[in-house]
Amino acid sequence: MAQHSPPSRLTARVVCLPGDGVGPEIIDVARPLLVSAANRAGITLELLELPIGGAGYDADGDPLPASTEAACRAADAVLLGAVGAPRYDALPPALRPEQGLLRLRRALGVFANLRPVKVYPSLVDRAPLKASLLEGTDLVVVRELLSGLYFGEPRGIEGDRAFNTMAYEKSEILRVAEVAFELARTRREAGRPGQVTSVDKANVLEVSRLWREVVSELQRTRYPDVPLTHQYVDSAAMDLIRRPASFDVVLTENLFGDILTDEAAVLAGSIGLLPSASLGAGPGLYEPIHGSAPDIAGRGVANPIGAVLSAASLLRLSLHLPAEAARLEAAVEAVLEAGHFTADLGGDVSTAQMGELICRALND
Ligand code: NAD
Repeated sequence: MAQHSPPSRLTARVVCLPGDGVGPEIIDVARPLLVSAANRAGITLELLELPIGGAGYDADGDPLPASTEAACRAADAVLLGAVGAPRYDALPPALRPEQGLLRLRRALGVFANLRPVKVYPSLVDRAPLKASLLEGTDLVVVRELLSGLYFGEPRGIEGDRAFNTMAYEKSEILRVAEVAFELARTRREAGRPGQVTSVDKANVLEVSRLWREVVSELQRTRYPDVPLTHQYVDSAAMDLIRRPASFDVVLTENLFGDILTDEAAVLAGSIGLLPSASLGAGPGLYEPIHGSAPDIAGRGVANPIGAVLSAASLLRLSLHLPAEAARLEAAVEAVLEAGHFTADLGGDVSTAQMGELICRALND
């Protein structure tokens, strides 16, 4: 997808939002790698580090402080760790850490969330699924991020009844579907199949029937060269485990995408490996797909690779430095190939050591 125009100057503004739990630990690894990759390409990064989530609440009484929001809006890109911690669970809903992230996504207008899932050959034996099922898995889920059940009104709890609303406008479906079709074309140029699987629940939900109609029409009129199939979400959930290598670009709405991408994380071997990029018309938002992992926070054992690969996506999509992005991705792969793993993958490499290993591989 064409991100907002590349920074034409030799500096770029990046806001880092470490957040809560393991967020600061993984951002401490990703940040210097991002800076040195940009520097190598002749770009100086103006870095700002600001609080969000529980850290925002502690600093300012708001999970998205106004100064954080303003800086993100003015940036070329935003790199986020994770938000959330049990000690904030008793706060009123509007003050909870997760609200800070939802508000930021809305403020930046990032409607398309790209979540690549790649199975590294060095990890096929460490993932819970059989190696024979995993080989060749390399897919991207394009998840709609700003609408659907998470944002729909009315919502609430009234006595013994609770309700949420799943609603989509045609325009919201169109813009995210365009991202998926464009991505499929790019992937075909890179030797992948370049096909889209659109996931819905059109046998039950009216929203899904509109989704299917809009996606089909877009393919017919503008992307006839991109093969399109439709699949019900329950069947897609099964096939993601049964034949993951058959998927290329998976297009889906907000809730289904949230669930399917956590499922897809199992294919990669650990949720700590997976990056994401959230794109709209303004600055892109880059973050690993995992949460703040309170069960391991503060122990220096979190896997920083999801954050590092998110930084690589930032280099590619917002700073328009594809060669530097590919170098960073290759460095991560080389470290894994050499047999270095954090605890989530059965190894004993610490978060910081993983950063040093990637840095060394980058400079080899
Ligand atoms: P989680 O992703 O934080 O953790 C799920 C499991 O994965 C845990 O066992 C955790 O230890 C492990 N894990 C996660 N990241 C890891 C990493 N980098 N390395 C190694 N292991 C890792 O999900 P959760 O436990 O459901 O949620 C914890 C908190 O995070 C909650 O407050 C939740 O609301 C929040 N959350 C935030 C985001 C976000 O910031 N984007 C996303 C999901 C959940």
